[in-house]
Amino acid sequence: MSLSVPHLRIGSTEIIALADGEGPFFSPRAEAFPEATAGQWAEADRYDPGAVDAEGRWRLQFRAYAIRSDKSLTLVDAGIGPADGPAVSWAPVPGVLPASLAAANIDPAEVDTVVLTHLHTDHVGWAVVTEAAVPSMGGAVDGAPTSGSATGDRRPYFPNAEYLLQRAEFDALDALNPQLRETLTDPLSAAGQLRLLDGDTPLRAGRAVATPGHTPGHQSVLVADGRELALVTGDLLVHALQLLHPELAYSHELDPEAARHSRKRMLGHETGTTLHLATPHLTEPFISA
Ligand SMILES: [Zn+2]
Repeated sequence: MSLSVPHLRIGSTEIIALADGEGPFFSPRAEAFPEATAGQWAEADRYDPGAVDAEGRWRLQFRAYAIRSDKSLTLVDAGIGPADGPAVSWAPVPGVLPASLAAANIDPAEVDTVVLTHLHTDHVGWAVVTEAAVPSMGGAVDGAPTSGSATGDRRPYFPNAEYLLQRAEFDALDALNPQLRETLTDPLSAAGQLRLLDGDTPLRAGRAVATPGHTPGHQSVLVADGRELALVTGDLLVHALQLLHPELAYSHELDPEAARHSRKRMLGHETGTTLHLATPHLTEPFISA
């Protein structure tokens, strides 16, 4: 995969796409979208031909986004993560987010805000890492061999960032993935870097918008300048099918009715405005809705 750094400018704010990985989905795509008709599949494949491989499998991108403004450097989501990350059982780890950040001239230490759209493992991979995964964070002198400790000593990958999660998502942790308590939320809390939001909240750059359905406390980030809008969606939609037909459920949505409602609400916009979407899983990093 290439490490180009596609970006979109909204007023004085820049949204930067950060590749982390790509690979096939773990089950047949017809099972992922059981209501989609043959005609809808054909339409979606014309819209996003990169999302289907030669064997007819769903091919996904896994990416995060940075939002750079004069006030903030915000990250939205944290990818699939390193080889020992929480997504190891199904996602094409290790991801390349560190190299993508470097290609975009972003030092993890300058990130002031990390918005976690939801608690699925392909969105929190680099949020908290072990020393074994990122030895350079272990405090070793440059070039010196590290101790190779694999004790599971975990620390936030973005040492100066406040990590933002909706309270409804945090409260659903046990239902979503109890292991993330040990690997994600406890280390963030211990570091004093976890902040829970209650619904729509202004951010240093843009605005967190509650978009429940995929998970109970799913959130997206909206950046607006005049009539130009950009929505960093998270998994509000996971495939072009759900852009072209927002009513179509994805089988891993916890509340399909709420997810449908969130999609329709966010994808509808006033005439005369332009809505750009920044999605983690579609082939193109930026699309116009
Ligand atoms: Zn996802």
